[in-house]
Amino acid sequence: MNKCYSCGGEIKIIKDKPYSYTECGLDVVLHGITQYDCPTCGEEYASIPNMQKLHRLIGAHICQKRKALLKSEEIKFLRKDLHLKAKELAALLGVTPSTISRWENGKKDIGEAHDRLLRSVYMMYASEQANHMICGGVLNMFKELPAKRKKIEQSKELVLNPQEWLNCMPDCCPA
Ligand SMILES: [Zn+2]
Repeated sequence: MNKCYSCGGEIKIIKDKPYSYTECGLDVVLHGITQYDCPTCGEEYASIPNMQKLHRLIGAHICQKRKALLKSEEIKFLRKDLHLKAKELAALLGVTPSTISRWENGKKDIGEAHDRLLRSVYMMYASEQANHMICGGVLNMFKELPAKRKKIEQSKELVLNPQEWLNCMPDCCPA
């Protein structure tokens, strides 16, 4: 017998009702989720298995299926699933932190280029995580770009050693 975690009373199990998963900050409806309803105290809750995979699925859906420019809550969702603070996402996309907050509170549109960049970064990150490629990585690649790039002096040539491409297994990261 299942008991209510709040009042200890007997709880009703609901199996076939769509669950509105608004806790993620988006309008997401989940089917096939077991829900609990307590007739005694009115407590309602749901049991959501594998939250991490669910969030990855929602993120991929946003990036691949949503055709309009990313909405404020979608940007926030993607940033949180990337485990980035607003300041870190700002550095990654080359914008100021206040631009991020204006996107996230709906005061400004993200724009075509940043929309595409954020989607690409998210999908690359998701693919790295799925393949357990944790060294290097797309997030670090952008993190290493300094803010004032016009002032950088660098040599014209790219120096490459044979072992960098000859010894590299398909699943290893470049040195
Ligand atoms: Zn209860």
